Amino acid sequence: MSNWQDDAASHLVLNAGPRLAMLTRGEGSYVWDADGNRLLDFLAGIAVTSLGHAHPVFVEAVSRQAATLAHVSNYFATPPQLALAARLKRLAGAGIDGRVFFSNSGAEANEAAFKLARLHGGAEKPRIIALENGFHGRTMGSLAMTAKASMRAPFEPMPGGVEHIPATIEALEAAIDDRVAAVIVEPIQGEAGVVELPEGYLAAARSLTLKHGALLIVDEIQTGAGRTGAWFGFSHEGITPDAITLAKGIGGGFPIGALVTYGAASDLFTPGSHGSTFGGNPLATAVADAVLAEIENAGLVENAARRGEELRGIIEGIDSPLIDGVRGRGLLIGVGLAAPVAGAVVAAAQERGLIVNAANPETVRIAPALTIGDAELAEFRELFAAALADVSASLTTSGKAPA
Ligand SMILES: *Cc1c(COP(=O)(O)O)cnc(C)c1O
Repeated sequence: MSNWQDDAASHLVLNAGPRLAMLTRGEGSYVWDADGNRLLDFLAGIAVTSLGHAHPVFVEAVSRQAATLAHVSNYFATPPQLALAARLKRLAGAGIDGRVFFSNSGAEANEAAFKLARLHGGAEKPRIIALENGFHGRTMGSLAMTAKASMRAPFEPMPGGVEHIPATIEALEAAIDDRVAAVIVEPIQGEAGVVELPEGYLAAARSLTLKHGALLIVDEIQTGAGRTGAWFGFSHEGITPDAITLAKGIGGGFPIGALVTYGAASDLFTPGSHGSTFGGNPLATAVADAVLAEIENAGLVENAARRGEELRGIIEGIDSPLIDGVRGRGLLIGVGLAAPVAGAVVAAAQERGLIVNAANPETVRIAPALTIGDAELAEFRELFAAALADVSASLTTSGKAPA
Protein backbone atom coordinates (compact mmCIF):
# COMPACT_ATOMS: atom_id res chain seq x y z
CA MET A 1 0.00 0.00 0.00
CA SER A 2 1.28 3.45 -0.84
CA ASN A 3 2.02 5.83 2.01
CA TRP A 4 -1.12 7.89 2.72
CA GLN A 5 0.93 10.93 3.71
CA ASP A 6 2.60 10.94 0.29
CA ASP A 7 -0.76 10.47 -1.42
CA ALA A 8 -2.27 13.34 0.58
CA ALA A 9 0.70 15.56 -0.24
CA SER A 10 0.51 14.84 -3.96
CA HIS A 11 -3.28 14.75 -4.50
CA LEU A 12 -4.79 17.40 -2.24
CA VAL A 13 -4.66 21.15 -2.69
CA LEU A 14 -2.06 22.61 -0.35
CA ASN A 15 -4.54 24.69 1.68
CA ALA A 16 -3.84 22.83 4.92
CA GLY A 17 -0.84 21.35 6.66
CA PRO A 18 -0.09 17.63 6.72
CA ARG A 19 -3.11 15.57 7.84
CA LEU A 20 -2.84 14.27 11.40
CA ALA A 21 -3.89 10.70 10.70
CA MET A 22 -5.58 8.49 8.14
CA LEU A 23 -8.95 7.59 9.66
CA THR A 24 -10.89 4.67 8.28
CA ARG A 25 -13.84 3.97 10.58
CA GLY A 26 -15.80 5.36 13.51
CA GLU A 27 -18.29 4.19 16.11
CA GLY A 28 -19.71 6.30 18.91
CA SER A 29 -16.93 8.45 20.37
CA TYR A 30 -14.18 6.37 18.77
CA VAL A 31 -12.40 6.40 15.43
CA TRP A 32 -9.83 3.99 14.06
CA ASP A 33 -6.79 4.84 11.97
CA ALA A 34 -5.40 2.86 9.06
CA ASP A 35 -3.02 0.98 11.38
CA GLY A 36 -5.95 -0.19 13.50
CA ASN A 37 -5.30 2.18 16.42
CA ARG A 38 -8.43 3.28 18.30
CA LEU A 39 -8.71 6.96 19.20
CA LEU A 40 -11.15 8.62 21.60
CA ASP A 41 -12.60 11.45 19.52
CA PHE A 42 -13.08 14.59 21.61
CA LEU A 43 -13.19 16.87 18.57
CA ALA A 44 -16.11 15.22 16.71
CA GLY A 45 -15.05 16.62 13.35
CA ILE A 46 -15.01 20.15 14.86
CA ALA A 47 -18.30 20.01 16.77
CA VAL A 48 -20.04 18.22 13.90
CA THR A 49 -20.76 14.58 14.75
CA SER A 50 -23.28 15.43 17.49
CA LEU A 51 -24.47 11.83 17.85
CA GLY A 52 -20.99 10.34 17.55
CA HIS A 53 -19.90 8.20 14.62
CA ALA A 54 -22.16 5.73 12.81
CA HIS A 55 -25.06 6.34 15.20
CA PRO A 56 -27.98 4.03 14.24
CA VAL A 57 -30.33 7.03 13.83
CA PHE A 58 -27.89 8.71 11.42
CA VAL A 59 -27.22 5.51 9.48
CA GLU A 60 -30.92 4.72 9.19
CA ALA A 61 -31.82 8.25 8.06
CA VAL A 62 -29.10 8.35 5.39
CA SER A 63 -29.96 4.89 4.12
CA ARG A 64 -33.73 5.30 4.11
CA GLN A 65 -33.73 8.70 2.42
CA ALA A 66 -31.02 7.71 -0.10
CA ALA A 67 -33.26 4.84 -1.10
CA THR A 68 -36.32 7.11 -1.27
CA LEU A 69 -35.38 10.45 -2.83
CA ALA A 70 -32.00 12.16 -2.61
CA HIS A 71 -32.17 15.27 -4.76
CA VAL A 72 -34.76 17.24 -6.71
CA SER A 73 -33.35 20.83 -6.97
CA ASN A 74 -34.91 23.90 -5.45
CA TYR A 75 -37.72 23.93 -8.01
CA PHE A 76 -39.48 21.43 -5.74
CA ALA A 77 -40.41 20.98 -2.10
CA THR A 78 -40.00 17.66 -0.26
CA PRO A 79 -41.42 16.38 3.04
CA PRO A 80 -38.08 16.21 4.93
CA GLN A 81 -37.21 19.76 3.90
CA LEU A 82 -40.45 21.15 5.29
CA ALA A 83 -40.22 19.00 8.42
CA LEU A 84 -36.69 20.26 9.15
CA ALA A 85 -37.63 23.89 8.48
CA ALA A 86 -40.56 23.61 10.90
CA ARG A 87 -38.37 21.93 13.52
CA LEU A 88 -35.64 24.57 13.23
CA LYS A 89 -38.18 27.38 13.52
CA ARG A 90 -39.63 25.78 16.64
CA LEU A 91 -36.27 25.08 18.29
CA ALA A 92 -34.91 28.53 17.45
CA GLY A 93 -38.07 30.31 18.59
CA ALA A 94 -38.52 31.86 15.16
CA GLY A 95 -42.29 31.90 15.52
CA ILE A 96 -44.93 31.81 12.84
CA ASP A 97 -43.18 34.51 10.75
CA GLY A 98 -39.82 32.75 10.72
CA ARG A 99 -38.32 31.30 7.54
CA VAL A 100 -35.42 29.03 6.67
CA PHE A 101 -32.92 29.05 3.79
CA PHE A 102 -30.94 25.82 3.45
CA SER A 103 -27.31 25.74 2.34
CA ASN A 104 -24.65 23.03 2.29
CA SER A 105 -22.11 24.52 4.70
CA GLY A 106 -21.57 27.15 7.33
CA ALA A 107 -19.83 29.57 5.00
CA GLU A 108 -22.78 29.41 2.62
CA ALA A 109 -25.21 30.06 5.45
CA ASN A 110 -23.18 33.18 6.27
CA GLU A 111 -23.13 34.19 2.60
CA ALA A 112 -26.92 34.12 2.77
CA ALA A 113 -26.77 36.20 5.95
CA PHE A 114 -24.46 38.70 4.24
CA LYS A 115 -26.94 39.05 1.36
CA LEU A 116 -29.77 39.38 3.89
CA ALA A 117 -27.86 42.29 5.47
CA ARG A 118 -27.42 43.94 2.07
CA LEU A 119 -31.10 43.49 1.22
CA HIS A 120 -31.98 45.08 4.54
CA GLY A 121 -29.47 47.89 4.37
CA GLY A 122 -29.43 48.87 0.70
CA ALA A 123 -27.44 51.97 -0.21
CA GLU A 124 -28.49 53.83 2.95
CA LYS A 125 -26.94 51.33 5.31
CA PRO A 126 -23.71 49.98 3.79
CA ARG A 127 -21.95 49.10 7.07
CA ILE A 128 -21.70 45.59 8.49
CA ILE A 129 -20.15 45.19 11.92
CA ALA A 130 -18.32 42.00 12.87
CA LEU A 131 -16.03 41.27 15.81
CA GLU A 132 -12.28 41.09 16.17
CA ASN A 133 -11.18 37.44 16.37
CA GLY A 134 -14.48 36.38 14.82
CA PHE A 135 -14.66 33.53 12.32
CA HIS A 136 -17.47 33.20 9.79
CA GLY A 137 -16.03 31.07 6.99
CA ARG A 138 -13.72 31.08 3.98
CA THR A 139 -15.88 32.01 0.99
CA MET A 140 -15.48 35.64 -0.08
CA GLY A 141 -18.47 37.11 1.75
CA SER A 142 -18.02 35.05 4.89
CA LEU A 143 -14.27 35.71 4.70
CA ALA A 144 -14.92 39.45 4.59
CA MET A 145 -16.70 39.05 7.94
CA THR A 146 -13.90 36.86 9.33
CA ALA A 147 -11.51 38.96 11.40
CA LYS A 148 -8.09 37.45 10.81
CA ALA A 149 -6.28 39.80 8.42
CA SER A 150 -3.83 37.12 7.32
CA MET A 151 -6.72 34.95 6.08
CA ARG A 152 -8.16 37.82 4.04
CA ALA A 153 -5.02 39.53 2.76
CA PRO A 154 -4.17 37.18 -0.16
CA PHE A 155 -7.73 37.49 -1.48
CA GLU A 156 -8.29 41.20 -1.37
CA PRO A 157 -10.20 43.18 -2.43
CA MET A 158 -12.94 41.87 -0.15
CA PRO A 159 -16.65 42.60 -0.55
CA GLY A 160 -16.96 46.05 1.03
CA GLY A 161 -18.57 47.50 4.08
CA VAL A 162 -17.40 45.11 6.79
CA GLU A 163 -15.69 46.52 9.88
CA HIS A 164 -14.22 44.57 12.79
CA ILE A 165 -14.54 46.01 16.27
CA PRO A 166 -13.44 44.75 19.70
CA ALA A 167 -15.94 42.45 21.43
CA THR A 168 -16.99 44.93 24.08
CA ILE A 169 -20.33 46.63 24.62
CA GLU A 170 -18.55 50.02 24.67
CA ALA A 171 -16.96 49.40 21.26
CA LEU A 172 -20.35 48.50 19.79
CA GLU A 173 -21.96 51.58 21.33
CA ALA A 174 -19.22 53.72 19.82
CA ALA A 175 -19.33 52.10 16.37
CA ILE A 176 -23.03 51.65 15.67
CA ASP A 177 -25.12 54.25 13.86
CA ASP A 178 -28.06 54.36 11.45
CA ARG A 179 -25.80 53.39 8.53
CA VAL A 180 -25.24 49.91 9.96
CA ALA A 181 -27.17 47.16 8.15
CA ALA A 182 -26.18 44.32 10.45
CA VAL A 183 -24.10 43.23 13.38
CA ILE A 184 -22.87 39.62 13.21
CA VAL A 185 -21.49 37.84 16.26
CA GLU A 186 -20.69 34.35 17.52
CA PRO A 187 -22.03 33.69 21.05
CA ILE A 188 -18.73 31.92 21.75
CA GLN A 189 -15.84 32.47 19.35
CA GLY A 190 -14.89 28.88 18.64
CA GLU A 191 -12.07 29.29 16.14
CA ALA A 192 -10.56 32.09 18.21
CA GLY A 193 -10.03 29.56 20.99
CA VAL A 194 -13.47 29.24 22.62
CA VAL A 195 -13.79 32.83 23.80
CA GLU A 196 -17.13 33.87 25.32
CA LEU A 197 -18.76 37.24 24.70
CA PRO A 198 -18.71 39.59 27.67
CA GLU A 199 -21.62 39.26 30.11
CA GLY A 200 -24.71 41.01 28.73
CA TYR A 201 -23.23 41.53 25.26
CA LEU A 202 -26.05 39.94 23.27
CA ALA A 203 -28.72 41.85 25.18
CA ALA A 204 -26.86 45.12 24.60
CA ALA A 205 -26.33 44.26 20.92
CA ARG A 206 -30.04 43.50 20.63
CA SER A 207 -31.13 46.85 22.01
CA LEU A 208 -28.49 48.81 20.05
CA THR A 209 -29.36 47.12 16.75
CA LEU A 210 -33.08 47.74 17.34
CA LYS A 211 -32.37 51.38 18.11
CA HIS A 212 -30.40 51.85 14.89
CA GLY A 213 -32.48 49.66 12.59
CA ALA A 214 -29.72 47.09 12.10
CA LEU A 215 -30.14 43.33 11.94
CA LEU A 216 -28.64 41.25 14.72
CA ILE A 217 -27.26 38.09 13.11
CA VAL A 218 -25.96 35.36 15.42
CA ASP A 219 -23.53 32.87 13.93
CA GLU A 220 -24.51 29.63 15.69
CA ILE A 221 -22.61 27.39 13.32
CA GLN A 222 -20.34 26.05 16.07
CA THR A 223 -22.51 26.81 19.13
CA GLY A 224 -25.88 25.57 17.81
CA ALA A 225 -27.67 22.22 17.96
CA GLY A 226 -27.25 21.77 21.71
CA ARG A 227 -23.48 22.09 21.82
CA THR A 228 -23.35 24.61 24.68
CA GLY A 229 -26.00 22.92 26.82
CA ALA A 230 -28.84 24.96 25.32
CA TRP A 231 -30.29 24.61 21.84
CA PHE A 232 -28.38 27.70 20.71
CA GLY A 233 -25.77 29.96 22.25
CA PHE A 234 -28.17 32.90 22.22
CA SER A 235 -30.77 30.81 24.09
CA HIS A 236 -28.75 31.38 27.29
CA GLU A 237 -29.33 35.14 26.95
CA GLY A 238 -33.08 35.23 26.30
CA ILE A 239 -32.88 37.52 23.27
CA THR A 240 -34.55 37.22 19.88
CA PRO A 241 -32.15 37.85 16.98
CA ASP A 242 -33.13 38.75 13.40
CA ALA A 243 -31.30 35.79 11.95
CA ILE A 244 -29.10 32.89 12.96
CA THR A 245 -26.80 30.75 10.85
CA LEU A 246 -26.35 27.03 11.42
CA ALA A 247 -24.27 24.16 10.06
CA LYS A 248 -21.76 21.80 11.73
CA GLY A 249 -23.70 19.91 14.43
CA ILE A 250 -27.19 20.08 12.89
CA GLY A 251 -26.33 17.42 10.30
CA GLY A 252 -24.42 15.16 12.66
CA GLY A 253 -21.83 14.66 9.91
CA PHE A 254 -23.98 15.17 6.83
CA PRO A 255 -23.14 18.47 5.07
CA ILE A 256 -25.92 21.00 5.58
CA GLY A 257 -26.25 24.62 6.66
CA ALA A 258 -29.16 26.94 7.29
CA LEU A 259 -30.12 30.55 7.76
CA VAL A 260 -33.13 31.03 10.04
CA THR A 261 -34.81 34.43 9.88
CA TYR A 262 -37.14 36.07 12.37
CA GLY A 263 -39.98 38.57 11.91
CA ALA A 264 -39.54 41.25 9.24
CA ALA A 265 -36.14 39.87 8.22
CA SER A 266 -38.06 36.88 6.85
CA ASP A 267 -39.51 38.99 4.03
CA LEU A 268 -36.19 40.29 2.64
CA PHE A 269 -35.43 37.51 0.19
CA THR A 270 -37.72 37.60 -2.82
CA PRO A 271 -37.99 35.18 -5.76
CA GLY A 272 -34.67 35.03 -7.63
CA SER A 273 -32.64 36.83 -4.95
CA HIS A 274 -30.75 33.76 -3.73
CA GLY A 275 -30.47 30.05 -4.37
CA SER A 276 -28.58 26.79 -4.16
CA THR A 277 -28.94 23.69 -6.32
CA PHE A 278 -28.13 21.29 -3.48
CA GLY A 279 -29.48 23.47 -0.66
CA GLY A 280 -32.36 21.86 1.21
CA ASN A 281 -32.13 18.57 -0.66
CA PRO A 282 -34.24 15.76 0.81
CA LEU A 283 -31.23 13.63 1.77
CA ALA A 284 -29.46 16.29 3.84
CA THR A 285 -32.67 17.61 5.39
CA ALA A 286 -33.94 14.11 6.30
CA VAL A 287 -30.66 13.36 8.06
CA ALA A 288 -30.55 16.69 9.91
CA ASP A 289 -34.19 16.30 10.94
CA ALA A 290 -33.46 12.82 12.30
CA VAL A 291 -30.31 14.03 14.09
CA LEU A 292 -32.16 16.93 15.74
CA ALA A 293 -35.07 14.64 16.67
CA GLU A 294 -32.61 12.31 18.37
CA ILE A 295 -30.96 15.22 20.20
CA GLU A 296 -34.45 16.16 21.46
CA ASN A 297 -35.68 12.65 22.25
CA ALA A 298 -32.52 11.43 23.96
CA GLY A 299 -32.14 14.59 26.07
CA LEU A 300 -28.74 15.38 24.57
CA VAL A 301 -28.97 19.12 25.17
CA GLU A 302 -29.30 18.38 28.88
CA ASN A 303 -26.51 15.81 28.56
CA ALA A 304 -24.26 18.44 26.95
CA ALA A 305 -24.92 20.77 29.90
CA ARG A 306 -24.31 18.09 32.52
CA ARG A 307 -21.34 16.40 30.86
CA GLY A 308 -19.88 19.80 30.08
CA GLU A 309 -19.86 20.66 33.79
CA GLU A 310 -18.25 17.30 34.56
CA LEU A 311 -15.67 17.73 31.81
CA ARG A 312 -14.77 21.17 33.06
CA GLY A 313 -14.37 19.75 36.59
CA ILE A 314 -12.15 16.98 35.28
CA ILE A 315 -9.87 19.40 33.44
CA GLU A 316 -9.69 21.77 36.40
CA GLY A 317 -8.82 18.77 38.57
CA ILE A 318 -5.81 17.76 36.48
CA ASP A 319 -2.67 18.83 38.28
CA SER A 320 -0.62 20.26 35.42
CA PRO A 321 1.40 23.48 35.34
CA LEU A 322 0.35 23.80 31.68
CA ILE A 323 -3.33 24.42 32.39
CA ASP A 324 -4.15 28.09 32.63
CA GLY A 325 -7.94 28.31 32.81
CA VAL A 326 -10.90 26.61 31.21
CA ARG A 327 -13.31 28.53 28.95
CA GLY A 328 -16.52 27.79 27.12
CA ARG A 329 -19.89 26.29 27.89
CA GLY A 330 -21.45 22.85 27.70
CA LEU A 331 -19.40 20.62 25.43
CA LEU A 332 -17.52 23.44 23.71
CA ILE A 333 -14.46 23.92 25.87
CA GLY A 334 -11.17 25.74 25.45
CA VAL A 335 -8.31 24.81 27.73
CA GLY A 336 -6.01 27.81 28.06
CA LEU A 337 -2.34 26.84 28.24
CA ALA A 338 0.44 28.61 30.11
CA ALA A 339 2.77 28.20 27.11
CA PRO A 340 2.20 28.09 23.33
CA VAL A 341 2.31 24.29 23.18
CA ALA A 342 -1.19 23.34 22.04
CA GLY A 343 0.24 21.60 18.98
CA ALA A 344 2.51 19.48 21.17
CA VAL A 345 -0.39 18.63 23.50
CA VAL A 346 -2.54 17.57 20.55
CA ALA A 347 0.29 15.39 19.20
CA ALA A 348 0.97 13.81 22.60
CA ALA A 349 -2.76 13.15 23.06
CA GLN A 350 -3.00 11.50 19.66
CA GLU A 351 0.03 9.38 20.48
CA ARG A 352 -1.87 8.17 23.56
CA GLY A 353 -5.14 7.61 21.69
CA LEU A 354 -7.07 10.86 22.14
CA ILE A 355 -8.16 13.43 19.56
CA VAL A 356 -8.35 17.06 20.71
CA ASN A 357 -7.63 20.23 18.73
CA ALA A 358 -5.21 23.15 18.84
CA ALA A 359 -7.57 26.08 18.17
CA ASN A 360 -4.50 28.30 18.50
CA PRO A 361 -1.02 27.82 20.03
CA GLU A 362 -2.33 28.60 23.52
CA THR A 363 -5.66 26.78 23.43
CA VAL A 364 -6.71 23.16 23.24
CA ARG A 365 -10.30 22.95 21.98
CA ILE A 366 -12.49 20.10 23.13
CA ALA A 367 -15.86 19.35 21.49
CA PRO A 368 -16.91 15.71 21.87
CA ALA A 369 -20.15 14.11 20.71
CA LEU A 370 -23.19 15.19 22.75
CA THR A 371 -23.71 11.53 23.64
CA ILE A 372 -20.66 11.10 25.91
CA GLY A 373 -21.07 9.46 29.31
CA ASP A 374 -19.06 8.30 32.32
CA ALA A 375 -16.83 5.91 30.37
CA GLU A 376 -15.70 8.48 27.79
CA LEU A 377 -15.08 11.08 30.50
CA ALA A 378 -13.01 8.68 32.60
CA GLU A 379 -10.90 7.70 29.61
CA PHE A 380 -10.50 11.33 28.60
CA ARG A 381 -9.25 12.25 32.08
CA GLU A 382 -6.56 9.60 31.96
CA LEU A 383 -5.39 10.29 28.40
CA PHE A 384 -5.48 14.09 28.60
CA ALA A 385 -3.61 14.17 31.93
CA ALA A 386 -0.99 11.84 30.48
CA ALA A 387 -0.60 13.97 27.35
CA LEU A 388 -0.13 17.12 29.43
CA ALA A 389 2.44 15.31 31.57
CA ASP A 390 4.29 14.17 28.42
CA VAL A 391 4.52 17.75 27.18
CA SER A 392 5.55 19.13 30.59
CA ALA A 393 8.28 16.51 30.81
CA SER A 394 9.61 17.30 27.33
CA LEU A 395 9.64 21.03 28.13
CA THR A 396 11.60 20.37 31.32
CA THR A 397 14.16 18.10 29.63
CA SER A 398 14.59 20.58 26.78
CA GLY A 399 15.50 23.17 29.40
CA LYS A 400 12.44 25.35 28.86
CA ALA A 401 10.37 25.91 31.97
CA PRO A 402 6.70 25.15 31.29
CA ALA A 403 5.88 28.69 32.47
C1 LIG B 1 -17.02 26.42 11.09
C2 LIG B 1 -17.60 27.77 11.18
C3 LIG B 1 -18.00 28.47 10.03
C4 LIG B 1 -17.77 27.95 8.64
O1 LIG B 1 -18.45 26.76 8.39
P1 LIG B 1 -17.99 25.85 7.16
O2 LIG B 1 -19.01 24.74 7.15
O3 LIG B 1 -16.61 25.39 7.44
O4 LIG B 1 -18.07 26.67 5.94
C5 LIG B 1 -18.58 29.72 10.19
N1 LIG B 1 -18.78 30.24 11.41
C6 LIG B 1 -18.43 29.60 12.53
C7 LIG B 1 -18.69 30.22 13.87
C8 LIG B 1 -17.81 28.35 12.46
O5 LIG B 1 -17.42 27.73 13.57
